[in-house]
Amino acid sequence: MTDLPVVRLQPQRHKRLRMGHPWAFSNEIQMDNAAKALARGSLVRLEASHGEALGVAMFNPHTLIAARIIDRDATVTIDAAWIARHIARARDLRELLYPGSNYRLIHAEADGMPGLIVDRYGDTLVVQRNAAGIEKLGDALFEALETTLSPVRIVVRDDSAARQLEGLAASESVRGAPLDAPLQIQESGAVFFADPREGQKTGWFFDQRDNRAFLANLCAGKRVLDVYCYVGGFGVLAAKRGATAVKLVDSSQTALDLAKRAADANGVTAQCAFEKADAFAFLEAQGRAGTVYDVVSADPPAFAKSRKDVPMALKGYRKLARAAAKLVAPGGILFVASCSHNIEPGPFAEEVARGVSEAGRNARILRVAGAAADHPLHPHLPESAYLKAMALALD
Ligand code: SAH
Repeated sequence: MTDLPVVRLQPQRHKRLRMGHPWAFSNEIQMDNAAKALARGSLVRLEASHGEALGVAMFNPHTLIAARIIDRDATVTIDAAWIARHIARARDLRELLYPGSNYRLIHAEADGMPGLIVDRYGDTLVVQRNAAGIEKLGDALFEALETTLSPVRIVVRDDSAARQLEGLAASESVRGAPLDAPLQIQESGAVFFADPREGQKTGWFFDQRDNRAFLANLCAGKRVLDVYCYVGGFGVLAAKRGATAVKLVDSSQTALDLAKRAADANGVTAQCAFEKADAFAFLEAQGRAGTVYDVVSADPPAFAKSRKDVPMALKGYRKLARAAAKLVAPGGILFVASCSHNIEPGPFAEEVARGVSEAGRNARILRVAGAAADHPLHPHLPESAYLKAMALALD
């Protein structure tokens, strides 16, 4: 039996949690003075109003998601050994799915570690702590990662927008050997470079792995356009799979430089051309010029950063699908994706369909997919499936 502080739910509010949901919201908590006084991220024993134990939870009295259950056994001690068991469990699953130490290792609630993201780039780990409870685990988390995986360094990217909701400040640091060059990633038989110090998210988007492989396998002998190419994930893999000409476009020179490096490392520089440009301006100029490609991939940053952006973002996805569809040769393939949490799959698919029709094209949907399997979902948090991707064949 542990001596954790007790936090109780309001009457009748335990049912959803007892069924398996991992969160209690602040209005469901008996927020008395003792609860309010608990430090952000404290571990607590969460109880129903009648005293039934629901588990050990991370508690933050100052945010909407006030309690996040971390273990349904209220008697466990959350220490480095407990964390190490969860890390080993997550690693074993990833090595089954995508052997080779390059993957999303911990995907928050789905892996039993609320608010924690860990990406594994071989012997470098990149950590994002998005909940006060995870930050409050302090060195126990790093020690558990070190004993389980023996990394040469852990890059801590505590700079996500989610931290603000938890009342956490932004910071960045490295434990272990300093990082002085971009990291290498192995994916689908190709090599890429990413820089967790300044790149987006943790430096590489592991979530698109299966979608990239699907698309690249259709690219042999084809002309390919990769807009929003970032460090070359789609375009360079397409070239590696035999595309005859690949155009890679991004507004970030830093990203393009890493994409060029990937092309070089994979021996496909001759097939690749890079351009720093705004995606919409580029697509529209190509449309006016009448240039076409056999495969077009458009994987933009999130258009809807918050709920209020949703209507504008939906229009943006329609416009993107329209502009990109116009550049697809008859019989070619269009791939579009959205990583906006706030955009539901249904409306996204609808806007893509409208954009394609507005471009005057008939389409067959070949693939509707989300993130790769190293981004598992908690069964009670289906809304955390943020990535939506579609591949369509256009007549
Ligand atoms: N497809 C990539 C991920 C794309 S991330 C992969 O598979 O890894 C989104 C990219 O869009 C970033 O590289 C960012 O620099 C770029 N970007 C953002 N706004 C842009 C714009 N207006 N025009 C072109 N690129 C843009």
